[in-house]
Amino acid sequence: MNWEKPKSYAVKNKNEAVINCSRSGGFFSAISDKTLSEGGVVYGCVLTSNFLAKHIRADNVENRNRMRGSKYIQSSLGETFKNVKMDLANGKQVLFSGTSCQVAGLKKFIGKEYNNLLCIDIVCHGVPSKKIWKAYLKWQEAKNFSKVVNVDFRNKKDFGWNDHVETIFFQNGKSVSSRIFRNLFYGHNILRPSCYECPYKSLIHPGDITIADYWGIEKAAPEFNDNKGVSLVLVNSDTGKIAFELVKNKLIWKHTKLEDSLQPPLLAPFPRPDNREQFWMDFNSRHFEYIAKKYGNYGFKNDLRSFLGRMKRKIKKAMERDK
Ligand SMILES: Cc1cc2nc3c(=O)[nH]c(=O)nc-3n(C[C@H](O)[C@H](O)[C@H](O)COP(=O)(O)OP(=O)(O)OC[C@H]3O[C@@H](n4cnc5c(N)ncnc54)[C@H](O)[C@@H]3O)c2cc1C
Ligand code: SF4
Repeated sequence: MNWEKPKSYAVKNKNEAVINCSRSGGFFSAISDKTLSEGGVVYGCVLTSNFLAKHIRADNVENRNRMRGSKYIQSSLGETFKNVKMDLANGKQVLFSGTSCQVAGLKKFIGKEYNNLLCIDIVCHGVPSKKIWKAYLKWQEAKNFSKVVNVDFRNKKDFGWNDHVETIFFQNGKSVSSRIFRNLFYGHNILRPSCYECPYKSLIHPGDITIADYWGIEKAAPEFNDNKGVSLVLVNSDTGKIAFELVKNKLIWKHTKLEDSLQPPLLAPFPRPDNREQFWMDFNSRHFEYIAKKYGNYGFKNDLRSFLGRMKRKIKKAMERDK
């Protein structure tokens, strides 16, 4: 049974290299390291070779590392729930990570409590449609005369933890950083319909532990705020409490006030936009460039902003080198 009021922590992995590869403060790596080191298995979302998201089972660090980073599209579960159930029945320690509705779905599927299962859910803004993501990549390929070879849904290395810029890498060696997909995401037209009625936009979550970006860190724990990434960790159950205690030595952590940790997706679902139908009519009948301009802020202003941002970062780097 999960508690009615979670305990809230600001968390950073002690290993800065891990924070750099993770979306937030690298809590997921710390907790999944523990599972793997005890011979357990970890389930989570990876990027496929065609840049879609799917859940896999990892029994080693290499595959677990592929789960790091947020893929802002819906992850396909395939046979995941069946495999989790089999692992649990075979007595394996299992860590399952995913969106809150995936964790709730798993719990319903397995039908009973297992003391060898630890569930981690992410605070989830909503999941964008992979149809839009695929169309976006196809459009970028045509614009850049080259195949996509890699994507970073939120490039923390070049833009910092606070910003949200996607970077697409091409076969011809070029890369493009843009906010078009991010703008479509935050416009909410491309979210799955059930996300507008998400029952987990509250403090009650199905995971033993819930993780997120710690928005509000400047108030909750200003000493953690270095734009490299901080995890908000909400401990929701006795199982979560034990798991958190066991990895604390790998973390820099601080107990924080719950009131300072309440970002909008912990309070209420985002409403279905009034122009959602129009958006999908446009998407189904127009070229993607029209969508990018009308709904994704694509155009001269956006390009100018990216250019100025690039210049600012170059100057900052040069100044740091000359110090
Ligand atoms: C669709 C989506 C919406 C999000 N919305 C918010 C938000 O509103 N507020 C907020 O603070 N943070 C949001 N996040 C980010 C989330 O909080 C971070 O993934 C989390 O803090 C983990 O950070 P970390 O540093 O511990 O570890 P990381 O190592 O970066 O963690 C990766 C974890 O995310 C899971 N994951 C990645 N992509 C997906 C996916 N598509 N579906 C299911 N699981 C996935 C992996 O299985 C793994 O457990 C969102 C992430 C996703 C994928
Ligand atoms: S917003 Fe809610 S319903 Fe939508 S993917 Fe996230 S947890 Fe699931």
